Amino acid sequence: MSNSGIFSSYMQDAIKEALSDSNEVPVGAVIVYNNKIIAKTKNQMITKVDSTAHAEIEAIRQASLFLKKYRLEECSLYVTLEPCPMCAFAISLARIKNLYFGAQDIKYGAVLNNIKMYQSNLTNHKPNIYDGIMKNECELLLKNFFRQKRK
Ligand SMILES: [Zn+2]
Repeated sequence: MSNSGIFSSYMQDAIKEALSDSNEVPVGAVIVYNNKIIAKTKNQMITKVDSTAHAEIEAIRQASLFLKKYRLEECSLYVTLEPCPMCAFAISLARIKNLYFGAQDIKYGAVLNNIKMYQSNLTNHKPNIYDGIMKNECELLLKNFFRQKRK
């Protein structure tokens, strides 16, 4: 399997997770450590009645509990959508090594769009960024969800 195949396989897991609850806006995330998935989460704002329960925040919590460490230096995070400012900052605080994301979020994204968190002085730790992983599939996730909602 090529490297890009491996990245796609983890992103596929994030997509599947995003789709596992039809009420929530479908954003899914997984965290990989030593080639193993140690966290698999989705956006859970409605379920948890918590506006901070974004997929990435939930994934960081899960991975930190699993490793019993609040720093996730050797971890890679895969998320279907470009992280918002809150999540982008949390990713920096958690010192996640690699950030892979699928679709860009023109409106709320804070990595390539808007405040470009990792190009700013707000962050000391800056993850390696790989964008556009399974971009089309990740974009469709949201498009289909909002199309469905409008019906
Ligand atoms: Zn977020």
